[in-house]
Amino acid sequence: MKRIDYQALLNPAQYEAVTTLYGPLLVIAGAGSGKTRTLVYRMARLVEEGIPPEKILLLTFTRKAATEMLRRASAILSEDRCERVLGGTFHSLSHLMLREYGELVGLSRHFTIMDRGDAEDAINLLRNALGLAGKGRRFPKKETIAAIFSKMVNKMMGLEDLIEAEYPHLLGDIEDLARLFRHYVQYKLEHQLLDYDDLLVYWRRILAEFPRVRESVAERFNFIMVDEYQDTNHLQAEIVRFMAEGHENVMVVGDDSQSIYSFRGANFRNILEFPRLFPGAKIIKLEENYRSTQPILDLANAAIARAKEKYTKCLHTKRKGGELPVVFRGRDEAEQSRFIADRILELREEGVELSDIAVLFRSSYHSFDLELELTKRDIPFVKQGGMKLIETAHIKDIIAHLRIIVNPIDMLSWNRILLLIEGVGPKTSQQLINYLRYTPEPIKALETYPAKPAIREGLGRLARTLLAMAKEGLSPEERLEILFEYYLPLLSRVYHDDYPKREKDLDHLLSIVGRYQDLDDFLTDLALEPPEASVASVEPYDTDRECLVLSTIHSAKGLEWHTVFVISLVEGRFPSGYSLGREDDLEEERRLFYVAVTRARERLYLTYPGTMYIPGQGRTIAKASRFLAELPARLSRNWHEIQAELSPDEASVVINIETGPAFQPGEWVKHPVFGTGQVRGMTDQHKVVVNFETAGTKTLHLKYVKLERL
Ligand code: ATP
Ligand code: MG
Repeated sequence: MKRIDYQALLNPAQYEAVTTLYGPLLVIAGAGSGKTRTLVYRMARLVEEGIPPEKILLLTFTRKAATEMLRRASAILSEDRCERVLGGTFHSLSHLMLREYGELVGLSRHFTIMDRGDAEDAINLLRNALGLAGKGRRFPKKETIAAIFSKMVNKMMGLEDLIEAEYPHLLGDIEDLARLFRHYVQYKLEHQLLDYDDLLVYWRRILAEFPRVRESVAERFNFIMVDEYQDTNHLQAEIVRFMAEGHENVMVVGDDSQSIYSFRGANFRNILEFPRLFPGAKIIKLEENYRSTQPILDLANAAIARAKEKYTKCLHTKRKGGELPVVFRGRDEAEQSRFIADRILELREEGVELSDIAVLFRSSYHSFDLELELTKRDIPFVKQGGMKLIETAHIKDIIAHLRIIVNPIDMLSWNRILLLIEGVGPKTSQQLINYLRYTPEPIKALETYPAKPAIREGLGRLARTLLAMAKEGLSPEERLEILFEYYLPLLSRVYHDDYPKREKDLDHLLSIVGRYQDLDDFLTDLALEPPEASVASVEPYDTDRECLVLSTIHSAKGLEWHTVFVISLVEGRFPSGYSLGREDDLEEERRLFYVAVTRARERLYLTYPGTMYIPGQGRTIAKASRFLAELPARLSRNWHEIQAELSPDEASVVINIETGPAFQPGEWVKHPVFGTGQVRGMTDQHKVVVNFETAGTKTLHLKYVKLERL
């Protein structure tokens, strides 16, 4: 095995973190300072020192991020032992552990994971059953209730305290909410359903109550590392503490200024609490930014400087030069979209790969107008953080059938699939469920149920399908194929309008399931980290093509691109309208803005439309976001001013070309897109002005593209 010269690859602070192998360690530092890189090198170092990779646990925010980090660590060591490190999210870890230890708290090995939509459905069901909804009653929506229950759990707060702090208008409903909560907990247990929060709650409980489990877990994982620690909550912090009892070899890295998940109960103060949780923890700060140019960092620093509470730092880089971020105001959304598409095409001309460009937004729907424009221009893109595949109705139907194969008492799924049968309404479904619930083999019982003739045929077909799917020894793909035979006719009946699009999603699902040997694993993966829905590019699901990235800021965490566009910077959108009333929420929006701008390596564009179309209100004037308005003018340039400085016919395109010999006025040249033209002169050593025969006069940066002399 080759030795790695860590000192040459890391700065002194990073090196210290990488070589501190034992004891608790906190790395707290700003964006782009190499926190994730440091984790990766430390992992490589541990393995190089002879630590068996299986003894290392890496927790990150998405499983994709974990896989990527393991891949990088393996590449550093030029061998693949690091792939044996257990990498995942807190939820996937908890899930794995519960499959092993869940019986200690009454969980079967085949519990089902509910996503947020399932949880809301269950809450709705119980709310109706308890008579808390209905005519003349004002009771919070199921989404609100689900959010309240989730926050109680993640913040480890009592219902009353939470309502007082965050939902004071619901104080009158506390008793009913408490009753509903008790029923919800009971319902989940009865049907072996776990929502996301339960995964953490049960795992923490097992750790807290069973010292024997703590011991064996500490024995199994001798080293724990956590990325993005600022977005963990109290529950997760406790899980780390319990799991590390005995060795305390815990390294966490994070940036309090980038904490953006408080709506899931994350608390940026958590990271500041680490030294209290692990007395004697070593704290290392990383000062230098390696990602962005100084002008981008100056803007980021100015944005976060206004935050009320922050622990870290001012970002700086040793890199010289860099362009000022550009602010663009379009007349409306359409102009904003055209501007972005124009710039993207130019960047592509310069040689920047589409996948090295990202458009970021606060909420998924902010990119709708742009998506139309990109499709029109044939610019392929992938969208991250939007609607998940699993959240669409038809995929939920499929999943429900599969879940019953694994967990036949999952009554929520029964309800969903029974309602798909022609002639079965909510009442019949409920009767059926009451019957199935108490039979030892619900699927078989379905066939013999004394149903009305009108639905007997439909129930029989469902029963036969489920029985065929449940046969031993089938691969998940084979089970899905059996199901499709039954489901496709249903699909065309129930979702008649957009049947073809939905059918494509099913093909997509089939291609995903093909990678799995075990149905349980497939369902778990879907629930824990569902794939994004219909990639709305020109060629859906064509992932081989270089694609532009559209992403919510939340999903862009930890990533970086050559050029970043942050769009829709309008009051009410970003900061979001919901945040305007509460100072804490507004602070979080500011951190979100900081996360967005610090994703850019070379170029940053901040854009907004001057007017917006709002359904019901028509066209309204949009006000520039306070995040823009507050920025000192010297930190960015206004696009329109840049344009005004150029002569009118030069104003549209600037292209970078491979640095070559200086061009003389009068020379004839050929450009791959603009054709032939005559050089007018050089504006500086990098820019040549060419008068093209058909394309008019352009200023070209001499960096990437070949300009051929004729
Ligand atoms: P974020 O807060 O956004 O997650 P981070 O602190 O995790 O950022 P990294 O993503 O690890 O930062 O690093 C940012 C960029 O800087 C990466 O491209 C990384 O390779 C580079 N980098 C970090 N440290 C060094 C170094 N010592 N030498 C060269 N490049 C470095
Ligand atoms: Mg990182």
